Amino acid sequence: MPDINEANTRIPSPLPWQAEAWQRLGAQWRAGRCPHALLLSGAGGLGKRRFAEAFAALVLCEQPREGLACGDCRGCRLWQAGSHPDFLRVEPEKPGGPLKVEQIRQLGGFVGRTSGREGARVVWLAPAEAMNVNAANALLKNLEEPAPAVLFLLISDAPSGLLPTIRSRCQTVPFPAPSRDVALRWLGEGGLDGQGARRALDLAGGAPLLALELAEPEASEAREQFLGDLTELTQGASSPVALAGRWENPPEGVSLPQLLKFWQHWVALMMRARSCDLTADEQVVALLQRLPGSGTGSLQPLFAFSDQLQQARQGLIGGSNPNKRLLLEELMIRWTRLFSG
Ligand SMILES: [Zn+2]
Repeated sequence: MPDINEANTRIPSPLPWQAEAWQRLGAQWRAGRCPHALLLSGAGGLGKRRFAEAFAALVLCEQPREGLACGDCRGCRLWQAGSHPDFLRVEPEKPGGPLKVEQIRQLGGFVGRTSGREGARVVWLAPAEAMNVNAANALLKNLEEPAPAVLFLLISDAPSGLLPTIRSRCQTVPFPAPSRDVALRWLGEGGLDGQGARRALDLAGGAPLLALELAEPEASEAREQFLGDLTELTQGASSPVALAGRWENPPEGVSLPQLLKFWQHWVALMMRARSCDLTADEQVVALLQRLPGSGTGSLQPLFAFSDQLQQARQGLIGGSNPNKRLLLEELMIRWTRLFSG
């Protein structure tokens, strides 16, 4: 008989800033009024995946207590063992890769089979925007003719990249960023506080889980250096060729796709700061001051550049094995052009 407290620690629970969505959906579920497909949408690093796991565990729990999975029933034990037959996780085979149509077709078997057990079945799918058109159409068939007692939890950082027909079949659950106080308190409980926490949270655009990731010491040092170099590029103080040579093999603790992800995130912060005049990290502000143009009209080149970073990252992760130095050179040249007007 495992210790119940120990068991409980392995059942995911919602994060402090998710209480409202949790209570609302939990009440809908208990009343039998929960839609059969939810689209959890919001910026990366806010804990949507964890929320979806916690909600799946709740739905599969046979005797929830105080609105949470009990951690003790047969459903919870199966969950903890990672072998619940009524839970299906659908994600790319490689991080950053696509969700393939074959993966979505396999859903048919899970959704269509008759469960030996009473109760619901849950499909957890992320990131939803990683489905191409074929995969999305295959999913649509399942959403249009829902099997009884199947709950779809779709998770997306970029719901605008989904087919409108998918979006319209789901109830969207928005995940806003928590207030700064709540985020800093949570980071503090996780052992990250003071100046380090505030800076990481700024860089993460207010997303606490991303802030934690950014604060990893090794990654953080390499990242600061990378940002410094990219800033020098915009000042003409170094050359794309030299920097591509320096960064094609990043230091220990950080990978090239991670650096590109961060670069992309930085571009997103610039766009956000310019379009809604939010206060941002001081380095971001300094860069924005050098960016030609003003207002939202000047954001188009940044959007296009962000797409290029995304493609480069997917190329690296997807195993197409691009020439890293050339790839970086190309990105850095385009980056300097953004600032030359
Ligand atoms: Zn339970």
